[in-house]
Amino acid sequence: MAENYDDIDKKTPDTVDTDGHASDDKDNDDDYEKYCYLCRRPESVAGKLIHMPGDINICADCMQRSFDSFNNSGFGNMPGLGNMQFIDLTNMPFGNIDMSKFKAQNDVPKSQKVKKKAPKEKKQEEELTLKTIPAPHKIKAMLDEYVVGQEYAKKVISVAVYNHYKRVLTDTMDDIEIEKSNMLMVGPTGCGKTYIVKTIARLLKVPLAITDATTLTEAGYIGDDVESVLSKLLAAADNDVEKAERGIVFIDEIDKIAKKQNSNSRDVSGESVQQGLLKLLEGADVEVPVGSGSKNAMVPMTTINTRNILFICGGAFPDIEEIIKQRISRQASMGFKAELKDKYDDDPNLLRQVTTEDLREFGMIPEFLGRLPVLFTLDALDKDMYVSILKEPKNAILKQYKKLLALDEVDLRFDDSAYEAVAEEAIKRKTGARALRAIIEKFMLDIMYQIPRDDTIGRVTITGDYIKGKGSPIIELRGTPALEEASATQIDKQD
Ligand code: ADP
Repeated sequence: MAENYDDIDKKTPDTVDTDGHASDDKDNDDDYEKYCYLCRRPESVAGKLIHMPGDINICADCMQRSFDSFNNSGFGNMPGLGNMQFIDLTNMPFGNIDMSKFKAQNDVPKSQKVKKKAPKEKKQEEELTLKTIPAPHKIKAMLDEYVVGQEYAKKVISVAVYNHYKRVLTDTMDDIEIEKSNMLMVGPTGCGKTYIVKTIARLLKVPLAITDATTLTEAGYIGDDVESVLSKLLAAADNDVEKAERGIVFIDEIDKIAKKQNSNSRDVSGESVQQGLLKLLEGADVEVPVGSGSKNAMVPMTTINTRNILFICGGAFPDIEEIIKQRISRQASMGFKAELKDKYDDDPNLLRQVTTEDLREFGMIPEFLGRLPVLFTLDALDKDMYVSILKEPKNAILKQYKKLLALDEVDLRFDDSAYEAVAEEAIKRKTGARALRAIIEKFMLDIMYQIPRDDTIGRVTITGDYIKGKGSPIIELRGTPALEEASATQIDKQD
C-alpha cells in the first residue's frame, strides 16, 4: 500500500492547487517545507516529521498525543494492536481522529507552503550584502530618477534605510546595539509617500508589503488582524521566511487609527490596533498564517521574527496644521515671541514643524510614536512639481504614451500649455499626483483610439486648449517636409 503512494509521488512532481488547476510553477516541491497535518507547524519548527500512508506527515508531539488519546480510549488494551506498523492507518480511527478524512499533503497549494531555508552558498548574488548596499547619496540619486521634489524626505529615508540595512546585515552585534529606524511619514494625499517606499524596495530588491491601516482591527473582530501584514510580506517574499524577515512593511493611512476623541464605546479599529502593532514594530516572534490573511485550523502557520523588518507608516493627518499652530502660538505667547502669533496662519510649510507632541494630540498613542523614531514630512505638490512629474521621471506616464505611439511610428508631443492645463486640472481635484493619471487617460483615450487607424498621421501635438475641451490636437501628416526632417534628426540622436 505504502509503495503505491510513493509511486504516485514520483509520477506527479507538480502539485495540484486546491482550485483544481495544475500548478506550472518551476519550483520543485522539494523547495517547500513539509507540514505536520495536525498542528500545521512546518518541519523546521516541529522537528522531523513521520511520513504516513496517504502522504500525511505528523510530528512526534502530535503522534504522541494521538497515541495517548488512543490508549485512553481503551483501544490500546485490545490484544493484537501492540505493533502499530502493520496496521493500515488510512482506514482506521486513530485515537479520536479518522485518518481517511485527511487531504493528501500535496493538496496544499504552494501559496500556503513555506520555502525551505536555502543553504548559504545558494543565496542569489543580487541579494543585499554589506558590500552592495548603496550609500545614502546613491539611494537618493536613484530615487531622484523617479520621485520629483520631496528633497528632504528623500534624504531622510535614504539615510534611515541605509542605516537599517547596515544594522540588519552586520552580524557582529556586540554591546552597542543599533536601534531600529522605523519611520513615520506625514504628508498630504498623493504627494508620493507610497511611491517613495515602493521605489526604495524595488531598488534594494527587498520584499515590500503595503497595507491600509483602515482595514486592520483588533484580533477577533471583522477585518484583518495586525499579523496579516506579515502574511502579505511573506507572500511578497515568495514564502521565503528569511527574505521576509528583511523586508519592508508600509502601513498607509495611519492617521485613521488615531484614538477616537471622547468615545465611550470600545475602540476596536483605533487605539487597540495601535496597541496591537506595538509588538510588531518593536520586534517579536509572530505566528502568521501562510498564504492567507486569516488564521484558521486548516491554514499552515509559520513564525516570523519582526526584529529586522523595517516598518514605515504614512498618513495625511488632516487638519494637524491647526494643532501645530495652537502649539506654536501657545509657546509664542509665553515669551518674547508673542508678536509671532498670526505669522503661521498662511504658512504653506507649517506641516514641516510637526512634532510627536502634535501627533499625540491628534490621537496617536505615545508608545506607538516611540517605536517610530524617524519622523519626517512631505510637501504638498505645487504646479511646477506637477509639470515635472509629467515630464521628468524615468517612467513618466506621458513618456509611456509617447513610446506606445512611437511603435506605430507616430510622434506624440505636448506643448507647454498642455502641461500647465493638466497641472491646473490636477490641483483642482485635490487628490495629489494621482489625479494626473486620471486626467491624462481621459484625453488620451480618443488619441489612442483614432491615431493607429489612420496611418497617414505622422505627428500629434496636444495643446492646452485640447485638454480644456476647447480645441483639437494638431495633427501633421507623414511626408510633410518639416516632419521628415525632424524625424530624421531624431533617429540620428537615438543612434
Ligand atoms: P500617497 O502620498 O497618498 O501615498 P502615492 O505615493 O500613492 O501617494 O502617489 C500616487 C501616484 O502619484 C504615484 O503612483 C506616482 O505615480 C505619483 N506621484 C506622487 N508623488 C510623486 C512625486 N513626488 N514624483 C513622482 N510621482 C509622484
